[in-house]
Amino acid sequence: MKDTYRHQGLRKKLVQEIVKKGICNAEVLRAIESIPRHLFIPDNALHKYAYEDKAFPIGSGQTISQPYTVAFQTDLLDLKPRNKVLEIGTGSGYQTAVLLAMGTKVFSVERQKALFDRTKLLLPKLGYNAKLFFGDGYKGLPEFAPFDKIIVTAGAPFIPEDLLAQLKVGGILVIPVGEDNEQIMKKIVKLAANEYQTEDLGQFRFVPLLKEKGRD
Ligand code: SAH
Repeated sequence: MKDTYRHQGLRKKLVQEIVKKGICNAEVLRAIESIPRHLFIPDNALHKYAYEDKAFPIGSGQTISQPYTVAFQTDLLDLKPRNKVLEIGTGSGYQTAVLLAMGTKVFSVERQKALFDRTKLLLPKLGYNAKLFFGDGYKGLPEFAPFDKIIVTAGAPFIPEDLLAQLKVGGILVIPVGEDNEQIMKKIVKLAANEYQTEDLGQFRFVPLLKEKGRD
């Protein structure tokens, strides 16, 4: 579990690539540059590719999101230090680490027990402190609501009502919406208790947000 100068150099290159793709949020770029992504990929044989701008398998049929996508979603959240953030789809914990590096307080929900168990051990080992929950992201975390920001890191067939309800007025939900393997990234701002403004921000490809409990 080591970070090295070589890894740090590769991360600088990755950041340059993400900048070329249009991300200019300095804090997001700093977070990507500081986080040892290879340590979030369980298969050591893939570590040499960890700083390519690609998704990789993390077990249980899931993937660690592409760094550009992580940067894009994080930028859309317009994070402020100490924002209370709900993440749906903890997965490897990489996006969780990026949110934490932005100075936010993170609550993250994962549906697959094997991933939940692994990431719950990994994050504190790497010095990241998030509140992690094993459960159904469609339901959010009503007992900890409301949240300043909510990010969904799997493709949702529709926008879950429970997540909208758990957003503060003025809060932002970033969620890729669509069936199969193609989703539209949506940024939804809660203007008032029952008033929302939605912006569509391009096509992405995510693993699906699971309806039924996954098999481990
Ligand atoms: N942010 C993660 C992305 C992982 S992929 C990372 O960077 O590694 C999406 C994750 O969402 C997977 O781990 C998957 O198991 C999880 N997921 C799918 N459906 C879910 C649901 N209903 N509730 C919570 N998590 C879910």
